[in-house]
Parts: sequence; C-alpha cells; structure tokens
Amino acid sequence: MGTSHIYRYPGQVSGLDRERRLKHRPHVVWLTGLSAAGKSTIAHALEAQLFEMGVQAYVLDGDNVRHGLCGDLGFSEADRHENLRRIGEVCKLFLEAGTVVLAAFISPFRADREKVRGLVPHGEFMEVYVDCPLEVCERRDPKGIYRKARLGEIAQFTGISAPYEAPLNPELTLRTDRDDVATSVKTVLDCLMPRITG
Ligand code: ADP
Repeated sequence: MGTSHIYRYPGQVSGLDRERRLKHRPHVVWLTGLSAAGKSTIAHALEAQLFEMGVQAYVLDGDNVRHGLCGDLGFSEADRHENLRRIGEVCKLFLEAGTVVLAAFISPFRADREKVRGLVPHGEFMEVYVDCPLEVCERRDPKGIYRKARLGEIAQFTGISAPYEAPLNPELTLRTDRDDVATSVKTVLDCLMPRITG
C-alpha cells in the first residue's frame, strides 16, 4: 500500500523505561456489549479509580471516536470493521505510550475483537463482556436511541436490526442487570491489577 519507503524511527525511551517510570505495565481493557449495557459508565468509573491509584489510564469511547478519527465511517459491516481496525491501531499506540486503555465499544463482531487482540502484544489485552439483556438496555435507553431504532429511524442498530456476537471466552463477564457499577469496577480491578503490576 505504498508504505515501503516508510521507516520506523527508533525511540530512545523504551517500553521498559516507561514501565519503570509509571510503575505499571500497559494494557487494553476491551469492554464489549450492547448499547446501554454500561460500557462507558464502567469505563469512566474505572478511569477515575485508576487515576486515584496513580495508574495512567485513558478511556477510548465509541461515540467520541466516531466524532473524530472515524467521523467518515457509517455503520455498514465494512465500516464497522474499519472503525475497529483504526481503534485497534490507536490502542496499540496507547500501549506503546505505557497507558492502560479502557476501550468501550459495542464491537459486535467476534472476528473484529479477535483482530484487535491479535494486534497487541500477547498478554496485554483483556476482553470484558458487559452483559445485559436487551430488554434492560432498551428500558434504560439513556440516549433515546433504542426508541429511534424501533421506530426505524436508525438502521443497522445492534441488537435490533444488526447482530451482536457475544464473546465465547472473555477474560471477564459483568452482569450489569444484577451488579451495580462499583461491583463491576472492583471485578475488573481485581483481574487487571495483577496483570499490570508485580
Ligand atoms: P454503553 O456505553 O454500553 O452504551 P452507557 O454506560 O452509556 O452504556 O449507559 C448505561 C446506562 O445504564 C447509564 O445511564 C447507567 O447509569 C445505567 N446503568 C444502570 N445500572 C447500571 C449498572 N449496574 N452498570 C452500568 N450502568 C448502569
């Protein structure tokens, strides 16, 4: 694709240097699930808690990315694949910068999620299935988008007119119809912290 003349500039600050400075390793915490399942809510609560703990963490959120980096993309299957490919590359850059990335994306296709996992170094990715029944998500509907989707105003809406492929083997599953936000945050931290410290 015309990139044969592009070389990587070797940095003087290594991943290990960053790890020593930050006192933790980088990681991607990939939150997947239906719209309104609670991905953003949990990601932001996690970010706040990690910040307090001195961990360099940053939320990458579906809505925000779609305004900028992926503003040219729609919701066709091809565009969803491309959306996640770009996000995967961004995750990789954040990992190189030493950050714990909290990635909150519906990411409905297993193959796309596995591609992101394959893109980042082994052991630096955990898939968190934010599981919540469709009826509960639809009742929450914080942005009113389920209502619009039911009225046919939004095409290819995950869970209604587009598929969602639940993870088969996620590192964690959160049940947000049963557990409150604080419980979910603690569940993720208990799994994450040994992965990035010690
Ligand atoms: P998503 O990012 O998955 O689309 P959001 O986090 O934007 O979902 O919205 C989830 C909504 O559900 C929020 O309004 C949140 O306050 C609410 N909610 C209710 N109970 C929970 C829970 N146990 N965990 C997470 N969110 C919850």
